[in-house]
Amino acid sequence: MVKTHIPGFPRIGAQRELKFALEDYWHGKSSRNQLVDTAKTLRMQNWNIQAQSGMDFVTVNDFSLYDQVLDHSVLLGSTPERFNDGSCDSFDNYFRMARGRAPSGEPTRACEMTKWFDTNYHYLVPELSPNQRFILNPEKLLAEIAEAQQLGHQVKPVILGPVTYLWLAKCANEEFDRLSLLPALLDSYQGLLKLLARKNIDWVQIDEPALVMELDTRWQEAYREAYQTLSTCGADLKLLLTTYFGALDKNFNLTNYLPVDGFHLDAVRGGDEFIRFSEQLRSDQVLSVGAIDGRNIWKADITSLKEKLATVAQQLGDNFWLSSSCSLLHVPVDLAQESGFDPELYSWLAFAHQKLSEISLLKSTLLNLSPQADTAEQLAANLRDVTARTQSQRVHRIEVKSRVHTLTPEDGERGLAYAERAIQQQNKLQLPAFPTTTIGSFPQTSDIRSARARYRRGELDSSAYNAIMQAEIRDCIERQERYGLDMLVHGEPERNDMVEYFGEQLEGYTTSQLGWVQSYGSRCVKPPIIYGDILRKEAMTVGWSRYAQSLSNKPVKGMLTGPVTMLQWAFVRDDQPRSETCLQIALALRDEVVDLEQAGIAAIQIDEPAIREGLPLKRSEWDFYLQWAVYAFRVSASGVQPDTQIHTHMCYAEFNDIIQAIADMDADVITIETSRSNMELLEVFTNFDYPNEIGPGVYDIHSPNTPTVEQILSLIDKAATQIPVERLWINPDCGLKTRGWDEVATSLINMVAAAKILREQS
Ligand code: GLN
Ligand code: ZN
Repeated sequence: MVKTHIPGFPRIGAQRELKFALEDYWHGKSSRNQLVDTAKTLRMQNWNIQAQSGMDFVTVNDFSLYDQVLDHSVLLGSTPERFNDGSCDSFDNYFRMARGRAPSGEPTRACEMTKWFDTNYHYLVPELSPNQRFILNPEKLLAEIAEAQQLGHQVKPVILGPVTYLWLAKCANEEFDRLSLLPALLDSYQGLLKLLARKNIDWVQIDEPALVMELDTRWQEAYREAYQTLSTCGADLKLLLTTYFGALDKNFNLTNYLPVDGFHLDAVRGGDEFIRFSEQLRSDQVLSVGAIDGRNIWKADITSLKEKLATVAQQLGDNFWLSSSCSLLHVPVDLAQESGFDPELYSWLAFAHQKLSEISLLKSTLLNLSPQADTAEQLAANLRDVTARTQSQRVHRIEVKSRVHTLTPEDGERGLAYAERAIQQQNKLQLPAFPTTTIGSFPQTSDIRSARARYRRGELDSSAYNAIMQAEIRDCIERQERYGLDMLVHGEPERNDMVEYFGEQLEGYTTSQLGWVQSYGSRCVKPPIIYGDILRKEAMTVGWSRYAQSLSNKPVKGMLTGPVTMLQWAFVRDDQPRSETCLQIALALRDEVVDLEQAGIAAIQIDEPAIREGLPLKRSEWDFYLQWAVYAFRVSASGVQPDTQIHTHMCYAEFNDIIQAIADMDADVITIETSRSNMELLEVFTNFDYPNEIGPGVYDIHSPNTPTVEQILSLIDKAATQIPVERLWINPDCGLKTRGWDEVATSLINMVAAAKILREQS
């Protein structure tokens, strides 16, 4: 009989209960017991919904108070030395590792955090040293297993696999070969599996997503060694080797030969690879097919999936399992609590709860299970909804599609080369040497936020709201004039979020009310949903920019979010390539850029903080991605005259891998984050001979400390050794919306003073 399960479930709670419980505990507003109780309730709810939806196993140990990789480091006893100061117990020590502080214990440098593969989830990077010891600490894992078993569930615990664990880790101090730790690590895993074998468990899910990465022969060899060792360790348990986020590609045979009892493959991102894989399966091995998309929010097309899976399901019989492509951690919890979508849109979506039902429906459909009438009805409803989506006028707009299809390479060209544009721009803008500017946002005071909220709730009409926002813009412009900045901004008071603001105004985008997804720890994001062809009905920012420009003789920069970032930070439609959606957004932005120019805006910034994170997991796919991403940016920027200055901004400076693409974007000015690296990260631009203007951030906006003139001068001096001064701009690292006005005033006054000193010197 086909078995169903999921690789993991969201733990944050449908109402973000875990977030609030964690933050209350951290801020001393609630007790440890309250947090522990909330966590327990959430686990119980998560298991119940899995069981009620017909899953044959409930997944255990996918729950975490902060992050599953940190949990795994704790399980292996491989947490960094600096937390062994005995200043608090293990409960608070866990939070110290995660965030550097906890209600008790000395504040300590937290573990580093980085993106979990190509998702927006961030894990805490294990720090390992050459003589690393692993000492099992299975308390949490065993307790959660017992908890689920007491509730009467059939339990499938999940643990992170040894090779992926090493892959994700970094060397604590000195560099060394992390693979040298594999034998010691495997000893620990053997101990762990033996422990689990005594807990009345059949299957353990062992996650090895590193198998979808490009692995060199040493890492491939590590896989062979690891699973050879684990398969002969004598524990009476079955291992489900679980991969996700892509195809195995070159690791196909490697994986196929690993001596485990079952495999889980991502059948969404991995395409049809599972079919070939099923043909090479041993008769005693199972294949769990991840058919329901765990990374997106669209209702699955059960009828087509049935066709796609039927042969494999039939051939494998009992050895065929059904699942989601990956953990459902990456989608919101429950669509049923959304009341803002109209019925049509609602009928196209599925969040985590709904995806469980889809797995079940797919299983019944494949097996023709009784009660048949019920299944038939659900299947018909599913087919009706997915078909409606493919045909809806709201999804398909001929004029948008044909505009994308008639794009030519020239649409991505500015007309003149940078060097010539720069001359025209300077004639128009008349900027001094070392021009000063900011990245766009200014403090979002509680007055601003409350005005936005009241407008949203209908308590303010649009003229009252506009008046408040205009007053904010006027204040912001006056302040910038006083500080002596050369290129001003309007301050973005009207924006809650740089993607949502545009998403709300574009046709084809929508936002959920409670569609939260965990980003890290207690932090959640609510990505907008791109459901249809993107159309700009009317200008989105021109009114605010025109008003701001009317208040000053200095140039005021227009401020937009770029096409790749708009795409990257949303749930994207799955019925056309991402590149196509990106070009649609680029065209909408292009019209906005042209309208801004027409309204007298001489410089326009198109932020692309997400271009780097869009890089595919496999390097072999980078060129293709960068090609369309860069072209989309250029399309958005190229509708204007050569004397209009295009800026872009990126919140990082690790450009080693993509410097060519950044240069190809051909923005007249790029501002980047460099202050924290002491300008070291600028080197890439120097070595590359980056041809256009650069504003390397001269102070860290993440810190409440204000920089002195001397500190700023010393950073600019460093930058000036790397970038010709004629092409150097002076600006902070990023937007200032999270700071207070006092800090902003001091910092910017000092920044302008530093620029003036430099002008006098030169
Ligand atoms: N213009 C935006 C701001 O200043 C840019 C934010 C970002 O790069 N993340 O807030
Ligand atoms: Zn930034």
